[in-house]
Amino acid sequence: MSSKNHPSIPTLKEKHNGVPPRLIHKAHRAKALIDDIATKEPQARKRLPVIPQGIERTRYFLAIDEISRDLGKENVEINDKPLEDGTWSVSGLFSPRNGSVVTNHPKPAPNTHDGMAIVDEEELVASAVIYPGSTEDVQKVVHWANKYLIPVHPISMGRNFGYGGAAPRVRGAVVLDLGRRMNKILDINPDDCTCLVEPGVSYYALYEEVQTRGYKNLWIDVPDLGGGSVLGNALDRGVGYTPYGDHWSTHSGLEVVTPTGEIVRTGMGALPGNNTWQVFPYGYGPFLDGIFSQSNYGIVTKMGLGLMPNPGGHDSFLYTFKKEEDLEQLVEIVRPLRIAMILENAANIRHALQILALSGKPRSTFYDGGGPFPTEKMHEYLRQHPYGECTWLYYGTCYGPKEVRRLKLDIINREFMKVPGARRINPAQLPSTDYFWSRDRISSGEPDLEELSWVNWWPNGGHVAFSPVAPTRGADALRLWQMAKEHWAKFGLDFFFDFVVGLRELHLIVECVYDRNNPMQRADALSAMRSLIQEAAEKGYGEYRTHLLLSDQVAGTYSWNDNALMKLNEKLKDCLDPNGILAPGRSGVWPARYRGRGWEIDGDRESSEGNGVAPPSASTKL
Ligand code: ADP
Repeated sequence: MSSKNHPSIPTLKEKHNGVPPRLIHKAHRAKALIDDIATKEPQARKRLPVIPQGIERTRYFLAIDEISRDLGKENVEINDKPLEDGTWSVSGLFSPRNGSVVTNHPKPAPNTHDGMAIVDEEELVASAVIYPGSTEDVQKVVHWANKYLIPVHPISMGRNFGYGGAAPRVRGAVVLDLGRRMNKILDINPDDCTCLVEPGVSYYALYEEVQTRGYKNLWIDVPDLGGGSVLGNALDRGVGYTPYGDHWSTHSGLEVVTPTGEIVRTGMGALPGNNTWQVFPYGYGPFLDGIFSQSNYGIVTKMGLGLMPNPGGHDSFLYTFKKEEDLEQLVEIVRPLRIAMILENAANIRHALQILALSGKPRSTFYDGGGPFPTEKMHEYLRQHPYGECTWLYYGTCYGPKEVRRLKLDIINREFMKVPGARRINPAQLPSTDYFWSRDRISSGEPDLEELSWVNWWPNGGHVAFSPVAPTRGADALRLWQMAKEHWAKFGLDFFFDFVVGLRELHLIVECVYDRNNPMQRADALSAMRSLIQEAAEKGYGEYRTHLLLSDQVAGTYSWNDNALMKLNEKLKDCLDPNGILAPGRSGVWPARYRGRGWEIDGDRESSEGNGVAPPSASTKL
């Protein structure tokens, strides 16, 4: 399909969150597959107007009028339209302020709520969206929020799929959509291999700009999908698949608006006239950057990052492993190779069921019965597939000049083939449309748009992730796998498993896909996640990231020494954000005004509201 036939999905040239022309056919394909089986209609609004707790209705609208006058009324939208879930593969459109409906364009992933809602759609919704155009605008919004005691929730692109998307944790918080107007690439330095970006710069945009400027010596590191923001992904500690995969660890320098409205630059950025902000992250004195990651202590308006020098070539490879139990031996083989950087990028050990789902075809194409997907059916399909019958797949990439790659590939081959039944798949025999080539592109820094096709496993597909961390040890991998497998059988919902090995640790990502139009399935998916989190914690495993609805539970598992860590987090929160206006409840950290009022979600009640908010004490009025 050519982009000419499909003018309706905005490209990067038209919108900051559009799709590069080279990928527009994939965006359309993904959308067509979704539309083919979609049945869910946008819901009529049932609980309007949405007003955050802690402010009276008339005063709320007065406040909205004030900020509209200050930033321009085109930059403030009340969220009172039907909640359109949009499509993950489509970005770039926003409904116009006058409320008229754009009919000839597909709907993008929303910035007002979670487009993959797992609880009632009217939970986790914003009351309004504000589009600041500069750091000073963000500062104005923060002052405004303190004046009126309105909670605000910053997003960069709002595509945090599987973890809550753009939704605020507190019902009625105002979403600060930073990306729409603050989307400049402020610097790319081909000598130092660094960049400086605003919140609305997507991986697509950064990649295209590097190509346009002809910097052949630079690579960027991309996650599974390229449509999210570089800055938001790093803040949420997302990963990519070149050797620079840990995004947070490659950042250098932040500009932050604090919850009381100060503008701060961290690291060398605090030194006037410096030329080292992006090359040395620490500066002098306490290193504060960590408190702005997965937190509600500041709004990040700029971030610097290291870019990878082009290594001079790469070879992607794929091995398959026959039996479930092979996982243990494989992980034992992977650990020393990964720590020694013979395996240079994040190991990607996938369960083979996901291969069926990556076709973008619904589950019913392969099997129409209930319960967990039968293993024999999976093998039956794989026998016809170029990968052949297997249970685990290892996708990896080697980097450097040809001779160097050869050496590493030989070691990897020798070690992997020690697992009985292991097979090396010859890439030359795979069709150009095979998923292997998508992994090859991502692992060599080229953003792609295929990964989420597995969400189409069910009509109206949504997904939620369970993401525990373990040491890279065979016994731990097997224990997590067995635990998750028992839940898979118990809840009758299919799970997709991906073990990602950072360096010394493995993250198991268990994706649970559900039909957004099926309340029973959604409830089961959430119960399965809650049960997994609890059982994992009992065995000593904690999550590295989680869905908004699960954040209180996950935070509660980090309880060593009478919850000392949370007590420190709360002390910091109260000091930095005395009025509790910034993303209350994010990562389970509640400001004083919300504490003890039932805002935490524990599983008995999936509500994003609590029993009111305390008035501010006289000393906290700013
Ligand atoms: P992406 O840009 O990858 O789509 P999101 O915008 O969905 O990411 O943000 C991911 C998470 O990080 C959300 O919880 C969001 O509140 C937080 N976040 C995103 N951007 C910022 C920012 N600029 N400052 C502070 N927190 C942010």
